[in-house]
Amino acid sequence: MCAIFGITGEKEAAKLTYLGLHALQHRGQEGSGIISTDGTAAFIERHQGLVGDAYNSDVLASLKGSAAIGHNRYSTAGSAAAANLQPMFMKGAKGWLGVAHNGNIANAPSLISSLERDGAIFHSTSDTEVILHLFARAREETVEKSLVQALKLLQGAYSLLILNKDKLIAVRDPLGFRPLVMGKFRDQVVFASESCAFDLIGAEYVREIQPGEMVVVPHSDPNSITSSFPFEKKAPKRCVFEFVYFARPDSLLYSSRVHDVRKELGRQLAKEQPAPRAEVVIPVPDSGVPAAIGYAEASGIPFDMGIIRSHYIGRTFIEPEQEIRHLGVKLKLSPVKSCVAGKSVVVVDDSLVRGTTSKKLIGNLREAGAKEVHVRISAPPTANPCYYGIDTPTRSELMASKHTIEQIKNYIGADSLGYLSLDGLTKAASQNSGEGFCDACFSGNYPTPVEV
Ligand code: AMP
Repeated sequence: MCAIFGITGEKEAAKLTYLGLHALQHRGQEGSGIISTDGTAAFIERHQGLVGDAYNSDVLASLKGSAAIGHNRYSTAGSAAAANLQPMFMKGAKGWLGVAHNGNIANAPSLISSLERDGAIFHSTSDTEVILHLFARAREETVEKSLVQALKLLQGAYSLLILNKDKLIAVRDPLGFRPLVMGKFRDQVVFASESCAFDLIGAEYVREIQPGEMVVVPHSDPNSITSSFPFEKKAPKRCVFEFVYFARPDSLLYSSRVHDVRKELGRQLAKEQPAPRAEVVIPVPDSGVPAAIGYAEASGIPFDMGIIRSHYIGRTFIEPEQEIRHLGVKLKLSPVKSCVAGKSVVVVDDSLVRGTTSKKLIGNLREAGAKEVHVRISAPPTANPCYYGIDTPTRSELMASKHTIEQIKNYIGADSLGYLSLDGLTKAASQNSGEGFCDACFSGNYPTPVEV
């Protein structure tokens, strides 16, 4: 998962990066880092925890210079250890380099083994470090060419922001798994995982970095931007799960407003999976809200906020211990008795992963007096793990990998359970964004070889 942000030619570069990372907090909560430069030296700060806790005014003041890149971490490869925090930093024959990476390198295990056999010493367990080693070994004369040589060896997902003393570089892998957008702040160029970071700092959204595109911005002249497509052209495979769950609803993703796509998923779900006896549509907040609005709109069943989410605890999914996760659901989501008592309710959520949330929640809704609970999921069953940067549990922990919909319905204790079809999802996602999605978590069709 993870968030990246970068800017050059702006004297408050580190502070703007800090704000951008704040807006992108939903993409990673384990740690945050910024590398800035004054055109000579690099200034580095990386800390565990949320953006608001990772920096203070002294830390921000130490991040000197008018160019910076930042990163919020959510570990998908490697542990939450401090050594895995980004942006990563290296010094080599071509000078120093900072790298902020969103995505997951699907062939990292074999690349790491062969680099280690060749004498490389890894400091972290993060797949991103592979990029640094490959870059350091590339025998090209420029940073850009060395980078391309290194990246050509990778399979999988990388949206990257790279900083050195002279330039800021943005690259998106040829399949474009993870998002990356470009904006304009005053007269300067700015990059972010999602456009919601631009809205916060008052930058204007310009466009997406295209799959396979590399954009280079010199610090000395941020207006002379160059763009190239150095990789073999491939049909894009943008992550459709960003639309379903991950991206922030106010972001423009692949040229579509995420909130609007989620509402459309809900409308489509209502057509495919009606709940004729239901009297009220309630979302599982926050991620299920737009789809529930769409479901209510298309079905004509009234919408109500029948579940309240406590915002004072983190995402339950994040806590690694299963026991704590159970407790988290109870702590986090509580039914509003007057909305559900004596009623047949449709509960709309964006996905069912291990089934923990739904099972607990349905129990709580029944305790609150719900007569019938019909669960509707605004995506197909999540049956396959992601190897491209979304944190999903192993296949054996994914409810839908081993169970039929009827078995899942019985496990979570619902009166009925209905998922959106893959066709329905693709149709809603392609409305403004065109075709070309990775839907491996639903379909099992992995667009690249993967090493487990
Ligand atoms: P579970 O309890 O494991 O079935 O998780 C389902 C809940 O987790 C849903 O409410 C989703 O909104 C949310 N969710 C789905 N995918 C992820 C993910 N990759 N990371 C964190 N939360 C997720």
